[in-house]
Amino acid sequence: MLACRFVGVFPLANTFFMSQVRVRFAPSPTGFFHIGSARTALFNWLYARHTGGKFILRIEDTDKERNSEAFLQVIMDSMRWLGMDWDEGPEVGGAFGPYFQSQRTELYQTKLKELAAKGRAYEKDGAWWLRLEGARTAAYDDHLKKDYEKVDAAPMVLHDMVRGQVARVEDRDFVIFRSNGEPVFHFVNVVDDIEMKITHVIRGEDHLSNTSKHLELFKAFGVEPPKYAHIPLILKTDGPGKMSKRDKGALIEEYQQRRYLPSAVRNYLCLLGWTPADGKEVLPIDEIVRQFEISAVHQSNARFDERKMSHVNAQTLRNLPAAEFAALARPILLETKVIDAAISDARLTEVLGIVQEKVISLEHLPEFMGFFFTADFKKDEGAKANLTKKGGDPVARVRELLPALEAAEWTEPALEAAFAAVGAAHERKPTDYFAPARFAISGQGGGAHLLGVLRVLGRDTTLARLKAFIA
Ligand code: GLU
Repeated sequence: MLACRFVGVFPLANTFFMSQVRVRFAPSPTGFFHIGSARTALFNWLYARHTGGKFILRIEDTDKERNSEAFLQVIMDSMRWLGMDWDEGPEVGGAFGPYFQSQRTELYQTKLKELAAKGRAYEKDGAWWLRLEGARTAAYDDHLKKDYEKVDAAPMVLHDMVRGQVARVEDRDFVIFRSNGEPVFHFVNVVDDIEMKITHVIRGEDHLSNTSKHLELFKAFGVEPPKYAHIPLILKTDGPGKMSKRDKGALIEEYQQRRYLPSAVRNYLCLLGWTPADGKEVLPIDEIVRQFEISAVHQSNARFDERKMSHVNAQTLRNLPAAEFAALARPILLETKVIDAAISDARLTEVLGIVQEKVISLEHLPEFMGFFFTADFKKDEGAKANLTKKGGDPVARVRELLPALEAAEWTEPALEAAFAAVGAAHERKPTDYFAPARFAISGQGGGAHLLGVLRVLGRDTTLARLKAFIA
């Protein structure tokens, strides 16, 4: 009684208490898991977590020829890697299963009969059609060279949560069951959204044009449709085209192989069509969940930006607690034989302490920091060629630098002062000495902060390498 009055007074509270958000990600396992699908899954997951609703994984595997078990596994592995847990679906179960469309054929037959009994479905040429409502006239479609009945229909208006009002006329009956007895995508998609009590459909904009058919089906079943949110396409880095599975950076697996942090990939995916309110783009998932709103999803297309993705990864690495970074780095460095098991935690932590803020991906760590552990490090030929462009003869620069470093106390401020003094003595910028020194001790053209590198590499090793370079 009290609850009713409460609800009556606060209609918004009504929706809040009465209906729990139920969203679904409905992939067809016909190919590898690409970032567009991952982003769609993620926006659904975020919305479920933001609202305290349920996130359902439904497998749209009605196309027997193109579906594969292997692709399904990739989708589930990638979702788990990205930390998207589902509340209902394969391997999890739930009250509205089975969650594979291939296991729901009986239901689709029953629902077809339901429409037929209502007079809203009819058979023609072996296929089953949805009968639209409205006055009919015969029409001829030149393009398809076909006669059909045209329905004098008013446009369907969709109030899309992202696109706003979208109107579209559906004026031809359409097939819902093919003559081979298989149900059509539109039909199973809507039947399952009804049966699984989906409240919000968040999907790619490529499905916007299907939505009028879906609304017609909801109408035919006499069921209130869910709210729709069509999220923008992801364009490839350059040019007008949509990101395709063949584009570099398109597959989630790639990032796994390149040892990107799943939390960074997930963070970047969130930014493809959505911006946090305060503009701070690298942030923990709890914070994204708290801030995420469908109404804030962009209407304009998103553009994939590989550099931004790696920036987010680098930033996320930098934000990790040192111990966590070390725990990720250690096995990679062991596996690539950069370190051996005998290395002390203290030494490893010291070295990682200066590379953590500069490394872009864990994948680069072995190359990035190998020189700390061996004098037999690789020399970057490109970096070598660049040395003479700035600062002239690198051997001469290192020769000038050596006595100053030999005399210096081994602290960053003292080393910095030594560079400045050498620069002043030879009427050069101190930076003219940075690149030759770095190359001499590491074989690289870039890397962690140079003074930190010198400090951690230590006096003896540094001086020995500078001498070897001169020789
Ligand atoms: N199976 C469809 C797809 O992969 C799902 C469409 C939808 O989300 O409604 O695009």
